[in-house]
Amino acid sequence: MTQKFTSLIEFLERFKDEEDCREYLVQMRWRGVPECPHCKSTKVYEYQSRPIYKCRDCNRQFRVTTGTVFESSNLPLRKWFLAMYLLSSNKKGISSMQLARELKITQKSAWYLAHKIREMLNNKAALKKLRGIVEVDETYVGGKRRGSKRGRGAEHKTPVFGMLERNGTLRIMPVEKVNGKTLKGLISGNVVRGSTIMSDEFKAYNGLNKFYIHKVVQHGIKEYVRGNVHVNSLEGAWSLLKRSIRGIYHRPSRKYLDNYCGEFEFRYNTRKKCIEMRFTELMKCSKIRLKHIDIRRTG
Ligand SMILES: [Zn+2]
Repeated sequence: MTQKFTSLIEFLERFKDEEDCREYLVQMRWRGVPECPHCKSTKVYEYQSRPIYKCRDCNRQFRVTTGTVFESSNLPLRKWFLAMYLLSSNKKGISSMQLARELKITQKSAWYLAHKIREMLNNKAALKKLRGIVEVDETYVGGKRRGSKRGRGAEHKTPVFGMLERNGTLRIMPVEKVNGKTLKGLISGNVVRGSTIMSDEFKAYNGLNKFYIHKVVQHGIKEYVRGNVHVNSLEGAWSLLKRSIRGIYHRPSRKYLDNYCGEFEFRYNTRKKCIEMRFTELMKCSKIRLKHIDIRRTG
């Protein structure tokens, strides 16, 4: 029976050493039955002396970390796990300085580690499309506070586009341009056709009724709710996003904002889950090989 954890002390008892971490990954990744990542064969055996497997079909070797974010790292799995625990259990996230202190690693290593975890969270490739009632809206973050215009077209600010299933999943991303082509492109890539889209009267959303049921709330004439037509849930998420960005960063760069949006999304979507579930959700994102080769080995 696997030990549950609801606190840091229980987490540390659950993952006492590298073996505990590897065992967890064997369960999570293969449901306990090791499978060759090269040819998918399960005719494999584990060396007695090292945590390495060999495939009887293709003769190649692999580890439980092959093809995951842990693969090219020199950090012990236990430090990765602890970093992921801290990042997922902390409502506001954790700075790389704090991470360095807690894990007893250099600040540079901590920076790379936090970066890799954010990259993991920002991997949108495997995500399911949204459905049902979906609110869409844009907002502007960062940039100068003084002298900048508010709302659409604000200077020096980065537009962020969001889609939120009513009582469901949030998806947000920074966009280059706030026009019909960009926004409708994102909607069709992320929302199942035939769903109901709620937006305000911004002209970029014109034409959505071709593939969706499109309901519009007229913000221009101070109409904010009409029956169940509104974008208030998404506006609630925007104010959380802005507060959290202001709290940590003065002016997040565009590249940084991409990953930050991924992290915010994760936090928002798991906010009602328990610590262990949040950790598990984050772990599920580890099954990717990060594409950026420029992330150097950290030790
Ligand atoms: Zn094989």
